[in-house]
Amino acid sequence: MAPLTQPLSIRIDKKSFPAVGGREQHLVLKGIAFDVEPGSFVVITGPSGCGKSTMLNIIAGLDEDYEGAIDFGVDGNPRVAYVFQTPRLLPWRTVYENVALVLPDGDSRIANIPELLQRVGLSSEAAAYPEMISLGMQRRVALARAFVLEPEFLLMDEPFVSLDDPTAQALRELLVALCSRRPTTVLFVTHDRAESVMLATRILRLSEGSASIAQDVAVPLSVADRSSRAKVLAEQHRIFGDG
Ligand code: ADP
Ligand code: MG
Repeated sequence: MAPLTQPLSIRIDKKSFPAVGGREQHLVLKGIAFDVEPGSFVVITGPSGCGKSTMLNIIAGLDEDYEGAIDFGVDGNPRVAYVFQTPRLLPWRTVYENVALVLPDGDSRIANIPELLQRVGLSSEAAAYPEMISLGMQRRVALARAFVLEPEFLLMDEPFVSLDDPTAQALRELLVALCSRRPTTVLFVTHDRAESVMLATRILRLSEGSASIAQDVAVPLSVADRSSRAKVLAEQHRIFGDG
């Protein structure tokens, strides 16, 4: 019998956007092929416009207009959660309701929402509306909304941009804590090099232009190393040649 957990297999032979309004047809991704081991935390990084969000949308199944194949390696439907670059909360729903709305009516996971809100530090904001809370808190809601699904695969597109450093760092630590509670395979997009080193077990770097993978490197830091600024900088220098 095949093992229960196969790697996630990603193959994007070609992805282009059609010509519109004077813009020529645009080849964005080409010759992308990699496997992701269950439980790994893979960061996809590269310059703005190189195709990171396009790749994540294809993996999530939101964009089916490409040549290639995505195989999650699980029987039946994989449980996938997606955290977008903006929190995408419904303004007319409370924090609690924004988390609950991803679950079908009567789903047993609804019972976990109060504990999850407590974990992400939002117990007192459960009845607040998104416009009443800070961007950092809105991003916490987006995390809760992803984790309430108990995802096997978590896709995240620059989920901590536009936050000040301490707030972003607190959210990274929260993410790592949430992931450690159950087996989760993470694909995390960021253009922030220090953030990639702090979080990733493996970094895939996309090249500029019609993007293929320029670098595929393991990050051999322990959990303790990742909170040391000096160790993160040294690793960032080794991988990216800067820092
Ligand atoms: P990244 O997330 O790495 O910043 P994107 O994946 O958003 O990059 O975009 C990659 C390229 O594809 C960019 O040049 C962008 O302008 C283009 N692009 C993205 N979405 C569309 C679209 N819907 N139609 C046409 N071009 C697009
Ligand atoms: Mg993007």
